[in-house]
Amino acid sequence: MAPKTGTETERIIAITERYGASNYSPLPVVLARGEGVWVEDVDGNRYMDMLAAYSALNQGHRHPRLLEAMRAQLERCTLTSRAFHNDQLGPFVAELAELCGMEKVLPMNSGAEAVETAIKAARKWGYTVKGVAEDRAEIICCANNFHGRTISVISFSTDPQYRAGFGPLTPGFRIVPFGDAAAVRAAITPNTVAFLGEPIQAEGGVIVPPAGYLAEVGRVLKEHRVLFLLDEIQTGLGRCGKLFAHQWEDARPDLLVLGKALAGGFYPVSAVVGSSEVLGVFQPGDHGSTFGGNPLGAAVAREAMRVIVEEKLPERSRELGDYFRRELAAMKSPHVKEIRGRGLLTGVEVSAAVGTAYPFCKKLMDKGLLCKDTHTTAIRFAPPLVITKDELDWALERIRDVLCSAGPAGPAI
Ligand SMILES: *Cc1c(COP(=O)(O)O)cnc(C)c1O
Repeated sequence: MAPKTGTETERIIAITERYGASNYSPLPVVLARGEGVWVEDVDGNRYMDMLAAYSALNQGHRHPRLLEAMRAQLERCTLTSRAFHNDQLGPFVAELAELCGMEKVLPMNSGAEAVETAIKAARKWGYTVKGVAEDRAEIICCANNFHGRTISVISFSTDPQYRAGFGPLTPGFRIVPFGDAAAVRAAITPNTVAFLGEPIQAEGGVIVPPAGYLAEVGRVLKEHRVLFLLDEIQTGLGRCGKLFAHQWEDARPDLLVLGKALAGGFYPVSAVVGSSEVLGVFQPGDHGSTFGGNPLGAAVAREAMRVIVEEKLPERSRELGDYFRRELAAMKSPHVKEIRGRGLLTGVEVSAAVGTAYPFCKKLMDKGLLCKDTHTTAIRFAPPLVITKDELDWALERIRDVLCSAGPAGPAI
């Protein structure tokens, strides 16, 4: 999709494409400013951001409290490395453990790194605590998962494009269908150390599993002494109408993997949170990261957590999300096959006749609303959780225009 000729947008996209590796295909918009749910491009056009950096911006763009926390820390100290202690890391891990109702925290930077960390913890727990024979540990994962892009993580992806050309891949993973607790039970062997899943498959098209799935998986795993690893990098921290999406059920993970909104879009901060029994397997030198637990990230993450709780973002997400999906359903668009989601994470599956969601996203962009297709056939709507009802109504008006217009086949889209 070509941008308008002669614009700053066109110029910036041209150098991005000329010098940047083309591992993404972004919409043709170049953002320069952001505040709350709103962003502005280099040519002065304003948009509502309904992607929120894949839920890294649950607190909105440049939340004033986070800006202040970041500024204050910038004036003091940005990086120490873990060779020394710093005065933000201790309070950060204490506050995050308390928020999660868990015992220990291991901070990293990106989501994929935290997933890798959880896998390392589970394997070492398997060998040193459960007694699995060396190099035999197995981890059960779900079809259609998304856990990041490193070599080990793509090794258990079921998306052929994620894997093709990147072998040899990491062994030790078994795939079961998502949403099927009996399949998890059937896949367990004496060498199984963990099950790794998402409470809702966000990248996979906003797939919500059947009610009771997580609770049943938890029971099965406990029975067989298999660790329950939940990736809440995207679904957690208020996105799905609870602080964590697994709290919709009576389910308790052994390790919780967090990232994205943990630092409200100011800094890459991720973490594995869990029991002393599991995170206790790490000895000095087993694992680490130069930037993991740095004081700048820790200071902004501490404030980011406080904002989630004090501004009641999970509750807002639940109420506004229910309202949003009710209004979407009431549109009765002929182009929509299904509307799925929890809280302010919504997937709109377009009908088979339409085929792909991209044209709708492009048309919404032209009307001032930014969102992105996921898994080709679904439009994902995931605005910052600080969005107001009026702003949501503004979005619904534009979505109604697009979803209820003639259709993507004609020249209109
Ligand atoms: C985004 C995401 C990741 C990867 O996080 P990065 O910071 O991009 O490495 C992992 N799991 C889930 C569920 C995600 O949404």
